[in-house]
Amino acid sequence: MASKFYSIFSLKCPTCHRGDLFPTGSFSFDRPFAQYTHCPACGQRYFPEPGFYYGAMFISYIGSGFFCLGVVMFLRWVLGWSMLASFLVLIAIVGILFVWWFRVSRSAYLNLVYGYRPEVAASVEAGTLKVAPPETVNQT
Ligand SMILES: [Zn+2]
Repeated sequence: MASKFYSIFSLKCPTCHRGDLFPTGSFSFDRPFAQYTHCPACGQRYFPEPGFYYGAMFISYIGSGFFCLGVVMFLRWVLGWSMLASFLVLIAIVGILFVWWFRVSRSAYLNLVYGYRPEVAASVEAGTLKVAPPETVNQT
C-alpha cells in the first residue's frame, strides 16, 4: 500500500516506480497537461484505451470538492475570516495546486488499474529492457 502512495504522489509509473508520468514539473506550469504515451523506463502504456482518464475526473472532483469545503470552513469558522477573504484565499490555493491535483488524480486512476511489478523494476535497474522514447501527448 505504501508503494501505491509513492507512485501516486511522486507521479511515477505504477508498474516500475522509475519512469515519470509527465515530462514537466507540476509547479513549473510549463505544458501542464502534457503526458508521456508510455513509461520511459519500462514501456508501460499510460493510455491503455481511448477516454481512459475519464474516471480520473471523478477522483479529481471528489478530492477538490472536499478540499475546498475544508479550506473555506476552516478559514470561516475556525479563524473567523470573512466569506470574501476565505474565497479569495481558496482561489489562490487552488490556482497554485490545480496542475498538481490534475496529475495526482491521473496517477491515482492509473494505479487503480496497474500494480507494482518488482520483476519489471529489477529489469529496469539491470538495464535489460529496450524501451523506445515516449512521445508526449497533450490530451485533457
Ligand atoms: Zn515503468
